[in-house]
Amino acid sequence: MLIKYQLKRSKKRKTLAIKIKFNQVMVYAPYYLPINVVEDWLSTKQVWIEKHLRNQQNRPVANSILQQQNYVLLGQTYALRFEQHAIKSEVIIDDAIIQIYTSKRVKHTQEKQLKLLMSVVSTRLTQYCEIQASHMANKLGVSFSKVSVKHIRSRWGSCDSKGRLQFNLQLASAPLWVIDYVVAHEVAHLQVMDHSKRFWQIVKRIYPDYLNAEKWLKNKGFELDIFKI
Ligand SMILES: [Zn+2]
Repeated sequence: MLIKYQLKRSKKRKTLAIKIKFNQVMVYAPYYLPINVVEDWLSTKQVWIEKHLRNQQNRPVANSILQQQNYVLLGQTYALRFEQHAIKSEVIIDDAIIQIYTSKRVKHTQEKQLKLLMSVVSTRLTQYCEIQASHMANKLGVSFSKVSVKHIRSRWGSCDSKGRLQFNLQLASAPLWVIDYVVAHEVAHLQVMDHSKRFWQIVKRIYPDYLNAEKWLKNKGFELDIFKI
């Protein structure tokens, strides 16, 4: 087998599956399936795997927020100002500037700056998503239990069976209409959990232009990956 891969076996799994995550090929297999069966199957997928690996490697990467002069937060552009050796570590946001102060006692300045920024951005995005989700849930006559924001690399949002909605922190600098779509998508899951035809009809009802938003995330989503050093 020419392809390097990581094998994950599980007792619950009944079929084989591949996923490509951060340039790594992950193979999911039923617990007792012999390795030669796994590899035979994998060799039939070689062309597909190589194509996807190439695509991931050619994908441009976004710079860290710490290297940027401006940051778009919920549709509004702010200048970023970093100040070290302050009395207190804190973030102050006014109309046009986000100031990130780190105290003299801070040893790892960049880590601290990133943590401070992520915390304020998370608060703002949570508030925004809560408001949007309430409007949309009202329209559908459904309700959710909680909205939270987390820095996840693998998805834009999620909705679980307990009605908890979670959104990716990276969305905070996407255009508002794109954030609204992700909220609409997760709110629609409160009614239908899968991605069936019925699900997309509900999405369309609360967010008619969903195809454009999906396209934006596919083409531009990588630009939002800025919470890193
Ligand atoms: Zn979904």
